[in-house]
Amino acid sequence: MPTYHYRCKNCGYDFTEQQSFTDDPITVCPECHEEQVRKVYSAVPIEFKGSGFYRTDGAKK
Ligand SMILES: [Zn+2]
Repeated sequence: MPTYHYRCKNCGYDFTEQQSFTDDPITVCPECHEEQVRKVYSAVPIEFKGSGFYRTDGAKK
């Protein structure tokens, strides 16, 4: 079951919800109960794990 990320435009409440493809998207905020909730598409978390992310190519000039 996919997890969808939502954010309320009214109060800024940020949450994820597991829904099936056939469920209607959430539009009402569980916090402030305003119909201001939108799906967030661009919030794919990118994790850089470990310490191997240094630039050692002498970028300073
Ligand atoms: Zn809200």
